[in-house]
Amino acid sequence: MLNLYDFSLDDLTALLTEWGEPKFRAKQVWEWLYDKRVSTLDAMTNLPQSLRDRLKTETVIGTLQVAAEQSSKDGTHKRLYRLPDGQLIEAVLMPYDDDRRTACISSQAGCAMGCVFCATGQMGFARQLTATEIFEQAARFAVELATQGERLSNVVLMGMGEPFHNYDATLTAVRRLMNDLGIGARHITISTVGLVPQIRRFADENLQVTLAVSLHKATDEERTALLPVNKRWNLDELMAACHYYVEKTGRRITFEWAAIAGENDTALEAHKLGNLLKGLMCHVNIIPLNPTGGYAGQPAPLDTVQDFIRILEHYSVSATVRVRRGIDIDAGCGQLKSAIIQLGDIKQ
Ligand code: SAH
Ligand code: SF4
Repeated sequence: MLNLYDFSLDDLTALLTEWGEPKFRAKQVWEWLYDKRVSTLDAMTNLPQSLRDRLKTETVIGTLQVAAEQSSKDGTHKRLYRLPDGQLIEAVLMPYDDDRRTACISSQAGCAMGCVFCATGQMGFARQLTATEIFEQAARFAVELATQGERLSNVVLMGMGEPFHNYDATLTAVRRLMNDLGIGARHITISTVGLVPQIRRFADENLQVTLAVSLHKATDEERTALLPVNKRWNLDELMAACHYYVEKTGRRITFEWAAIAGENDTALEAHKLGNLLKGLMCHVNIIPLNPTGGYAGQPAPLDTVQDFIRILEHYSVSATVRVRRGIDIDAGCGQLKSAIIQLGDIKQ
């Protein structure tokens, strides 16, 4: 079966021409997929029945199968998808009060980076996702929102996997989010653990997409203990690449800081971070740790985080604490998959 989400408009035109259809048919199918955003071929009512029948026998709209889903009290909707080869990946939809509808999507099945506190890192790497598999996670939410008259407005690549370890597929998917789903570059965020050559390459892409870098520690020895990738590219190299990004793009960079009680939430840590970031156009996103099975750390208490933010202010480094959404449904990266596998609901 052909997956229609794999097709560009040119590819679709070539296919339908080969089938003996007039040229405008491809455009019609395209509009159903990406403007009206329907999920079935039967909904494409201006196509002749014969074409709809042929499309039904030879094509599908997407290949992701829902393996499990959970909705949280705060409206966060978390989904586990099964890929055609049986791999499981997670995607989350987060509605905010101000009309924003944000999808958090995965770039790989598992992850090779081994960050000690991360549920995905604890699973190890399974395989790269294709550009379509990345794109389709967002497209699915966009289609479902369309049935309620709503639009997907933001996408963050903060699900399972390291997007810059799957650079080309990620960038292809990001361009499709902009071109085919109409999501503004500024409303897309790519989060990286700090792959230095790719940060530089990304700076040269000339995109207005937001870059987030997972920092979590401000000295090499400590950061290496949490994020093994720091052995490969240390903080000096990482910060040089971040400065290059800001100079090249004129865009602010976001740093992520998973606040772990007693570990990186102290005044001393705040001063180290302030010194590291002062003078750089940036913002720090503090996310209290989501506890995971393979790591003993606990989330930093909110009052400690407030003190941490006040210290950063002395260095003119802006920071905000991000409320953990979907906390009652394991909405941390990789956590739904681990929870469900533990429950034995899904056999791999
Ligand atoms: N691989 C990329 C993007 C996916 S992870 C990266 O590491 O940046 C998205 C964010 O979630 C990262 O900042 C990561 O450090 C953070 N994260 C992972 N596990 C977490 C946990 N248990 N609690 C809080 N944040 C976590
Ligand atoms: Fe991979 Fe990001 Fe998890 Fe690290 S935090 S293991 S890079 S998904």
